Amino acid sequence: MEQIYFDHSATTPLDPRVVETMLPFYGTNFGNPSSLHWAGQQARQAIDTGRRQVAELFHASPDEIIFTASGTESDNMVLMGVASQYRPQDCHIITSSFEHPAILETCKYLSYLPVTTEGIVEASVLQAALRPNTRLVSIMAANNVVGTLQPIAELAGVARAGGALFHTDAVQAVGKIPLHMDVLPVDFLSLSAHKLHGPKGIGALYIRKGLKIEPLVHGGGQERGLRSATENVAAIAGLGKAAEIAAQEMSAEASRLVRLRDRIIETIQAEIPNAYLVGHRYKRLPGHICLGFAGQEGEAIHLMLSLNEEGIAISTGSACSSHSAGQPSYILMAMGLDPIRARGSLRITLGRFNSDAEVDRFLEILPRLVGEMRPVTSRIFATA
Ligand code: PLP
Repeated sequence: MEQIYFDHSATTPLDPRVVETMLPFYGTNFGNPSSLHWAGQQARQAIDTGRRQVAELFHASPDEIIFTASGTESDNMVLMGVASQYRPQDCHIITSSFEHPAILETCKYLSYLPVTTEGIVEASVLQAALRPNTRLVSIMAANNVVGTLQPIAELAGVARAGGALFHTDAVQAVGKIPLHMDVLPVDFLSLSAHKLHGPKGIGALYIRKGLKIEPLVHGGGQERGLRSATENVAAIAGLGKAAEIAAQEMSAEASRLVRLRDRIIETIQAEIPNAYLVGHRYKRLPGHICLGFAGQEGEAIHLMLSLNEEGIAISTGSACSSHSAGQPSYILMAMGLDPIRARGSLRITLGRFNSDAEVDRFLEILPRLVGEMRPVTSRIFATA
């Protein structure tokens, strides 16, 4: 059976060009970048190249990039690294109520901003929440479940005017939408390679020149003392290559994905009664679709499993973490969906290797599955 992967917000397949770039570091290029001999210097050069490629992707300077082991670590590093410089009562941090757990689980002394029913954090709401002791505002650039894009420039401007630093978790946005750190008033930005066709277990944190944070990991002083540990050279080379490819191909790829995304949204809305789009219609990631199905609580999970039997991988909005499968999504609840709707959404996220033919197949199968399922799910929930 043909397999179709439509779950790129969970992770992306490695681009073969990235694999090719990484392979020598599992063979002849094995040096420790801290060594002064030829083997070390080959590895050091690969790290320098990776750092430059990542910096170029969002118009930063290489010395503003620190490599970490994940998007989660980058997020933790900013929150803990800023908060640890103050006494708790002197450090108010603001975030939104629909961030990734990498933010929400890190600091419990956060203020949570509400989001609109379309999944947007409004600048006026941030303005009202700022306090004299607000040190940091952290708002994601794009949401992982609904795909909505946040007005980062405006929010960062409000934070800065209020005397706070601004961090954005851009794990879902980097490589998909243009981000220009030379003009954005953003102080910190987190990214993760496995969301842009790079390897898992490598991320980066952008730290604006001149800003200081406390390190989380102490040791040999790598990454300018901010993240000790022998560098994961192969993964850094892979992240660098993934960033370089994204920089070159992002604009054409975004138009292609928007076209595929809109075909799916429009066809489903026309052919499946009671299906609705969750999140803003246009302020969303190019390949991201989050669909709700009014009225049928069990329908999304049934559909996800039935699509899987047809070889099509998508996820439910609530189970982007399999640890919380079956629970209503806190992200959808934050957007004002009731618990039944917050359990019943599907996330379809497209990527670089998806084709028109795959979208055709999906659009042929989904309405059929919904048609077959509706009498069954209505019966189940009528008797429950
Ligand atoms: N932040 C967001 C918005 C994400 O979507 C994810 C992963 O799903 C992360 C952070 C965590 O990234 P990583 O998997 O590299 O730890």
